[in-house]
Amino acid sequence: MTNNLPKECPCGSGKKYTNCCGIVHNDIKNAISPEQLMRARYTAFCLHNIDFLYNTYHPSIRSYQSKNAIRDWALENKWVKLEIIDNSKSDVEFKAYYLDTNHSLNIHHEKSFFKQSRESWYYLKGIVK
Ligand SMILES: [Zn+2]
Repeated sequence: MTNNLPKECPCGSGKKYTNCCGIVHNDIKNAISPEQLMRARYTAFCLHNIDFLYNTYHPSIRSYQSKNAIRDWALENKWVKLEIIDNSKSDVEFKAYYLDTNHSLNIHHEKSFFKQSRESWYYLKGIVK
């Protein structure tokens, strides 16, 4: 994780990082809804917190994930902003705006599905829109 923590949370909540996704980065159990975990995962991409991204995959699928692939995706793009489109009890639809290696603006539009395990929320899968 970078040492230059932003004052304002990258997820766009308008709160300070330490009062928003920082709480979830300290302990995943602090995410009390899929949206909170989703925001914390987006912010983890911004801050290159690869361990958090890996650890918030649901235990049933975590071993299929590659930390290197997560790291590449996080580092090669510049994350601009997050827009939450819709959410429900177990899924969140969002748009993540980012600049790719050519500095072109892209939108990653996804519906993410989350599942609880031992009272914590985890990322299960996403459908790219
Ligand atoms: Zn946040």
